[in-house]
Amino acid sequence: MIDRSSPHVHTQYCDGKSTAREMVQSALDKNFVSLGFSSHALQNFDLAYALTPEDEISYIAEIKQLKGEYADRLPIWLGMERDSLSIADRGKFEYVIGSVHYFEPLVGEKTAVDGPKDLVRQLIDSTFSGDGFQLTLAYYKQLGEYISRYKPDIIGHFDLIKKHRTALNLFEEEDPKYIKAATEAMDLCVTGCKLLEVNTGALARSGAKEPYPSLKLLEYWRSIGGQVILSSDCHYAPQLDAGYDLGLALINNAGYKKAAFLGRQDDLFEWCDL
Ligand SMILES: [Zn+2]
Ligand SMILES: [Zn+2]
Repeated sequence: MIDRSSPHVHTQYCDGKSTAREMVQSALDKNFVSLGFSSHALQNFDLAYALTPEDEISYIAEIKQLKGEYADRLPIWLGMERDSLSIADRGKFEYVIGSVHYFEPLVGEKTAVDGPKDLVRQLIDSTFSGDGFQLTLAYYKQLGEYISRYKPDIIGHFDLIKKHRTALNLFEEEDPKYIKAATEAMDLCVTGCKLLEVNTGALARSGAKEPYPSLKLLEYWRSIGGQVILSSDCHYAPQLDAGYDLGLALINNAGYKKAAFLGRQDDLFEWCDL
């Protein structure tokens, strides 16, 4: 049995639908043992999606306030989800989820690989000569380099690139060329961070059939000594544990006997037996 918690939670300070307080209430209703907030960190583009400098101040103040207010009922952690192109200072936060969302296109604004399909298509056409697999390769290269250099506490949605895999014909999951790109990125990632999230967010939000990452990649991650933490990448309080049964099944299927969760006292992480 896993101790229920999530380190990956968005609120109205970035692109979430719920307030931080609603998330805390949902965590209490669902008997969570701890909760971590991870707003999209400060960046100087696509401003509606992430914290602005003013939002960052209010976000930090509110999470600290909730932390004090709920100290006897729910341990709360102040984190951020930091894109590889973010400019945020990690010193203000208790933990960091490191993720890659954005690419610099040759023309136009930076585009998120999990953004609207049409924009990702334009990015592939403008910057990768119409070849979706080149975007896939570039995604894994950027992710591996970022995680090994920045050393976050948790690696965010490792194979996010698969969101538009079918619609944009990016790659086949069984293709050895794809597996090579993804596992080489894992080899690099594990030098900077050993903890990867099993992220169930897309199950509730966009109807995905499985969490990030895919089973085959998670098995590889385990084989190189990587550890896991279950996360819901939640944007709407009622969905705080959405997809957790599938996430847990995936972790078990990959052969894990232990998983991390956000700590209940001073240590950022604790471990539970599965
Ligand atoms: Zn993300
Ligand atoms: Zn997120």
